[in-house]
Amino acid sequence: MGSLKYLGVANVEIINDDHKIFIDPLLKDSVVPNPYCDLGVDDIGKLDLILVTHGSYDHLGSAIPLTKKTGATLVGARDVVTKAISEGVSKEKTKRVTQGVKHDLGWVCIKAVRAEHVSFTDYGSSFLTGVSLGYIINFPNSDARIYHMGDTAIFGDLKLIAELYKPNIILIPIGMFPGAITEMEPWEAAIAVSWLNPTVAIPIHYDKETQKEYPEIFKKEVKRLAPETQIITLNIGDQYHF
Ligand SMILES: [Zn+2]
Repeated sequence: MGSLKYLGVANVEIINDDHKIFIDPLLKDSVVPNPYCDLGVDDIGKLDLILVTHGSYDHLGSAIPLTKKTGATLVGARDVVTKAISEGVSKEKTKRVTQGVKHDLGWVCIKAVRAEHVSFTDYGSSFLTGVSLGYIINFPNSDARIYHMGDTAIFGDLKLIAELYKPNIILIPIGMFPGAITEMEPWEAAIAVSWLNPTVAIPIHYDKETQKEYPEIFKKEVKRLAPETQIITLNIGDQYHF
């Protein structure tokens, strides 16, 4: 049995057996801190894998220092991996992906899929851009097909993702990092849920002050459009078991 823990913004920890994954690990001591998370890099022990959906500060977060501290493998698109290597991460500890690329590590299989968003990150005195991604995560000993959508606007190929990968647990953005911009509003996220048709949808990536009503709006809309999907709103540190 596995578990999934929400750590605020898009940061999700997944544990299956004795393996641990972080997705978009924004922590309290990231360059731009996670206002909802009281964990810093030094609080994170054993870690096997870090998935980064794109290079924006609220998603790349502490991925690079965490990779260096824990020896975890870092998965990301070319801009993310290039930045990590330039900051001292060994190339062997990185796996580069773009849309469609799969990495089967034996204990977990990761498939990178499209997201409708930009990736943009500082690089010395300049910047790097690349693709923005979502990830489908499968474990050989579990029926869970987890889809972390990263940061995305709604797009029609979510129907194709549903058809091909049949995700049954989705982590779906419904708002913004505080002070940033929203790409998918709750009513659009509910339409996305109706296309993806998961068993469980967990809303992530919303401002808990100015968008605190968003989970309820999302839930209401999903009830109307996709009544068979269960919405689970996790508070910071809450776990969902799969
Ligand atoms: Zn974001």
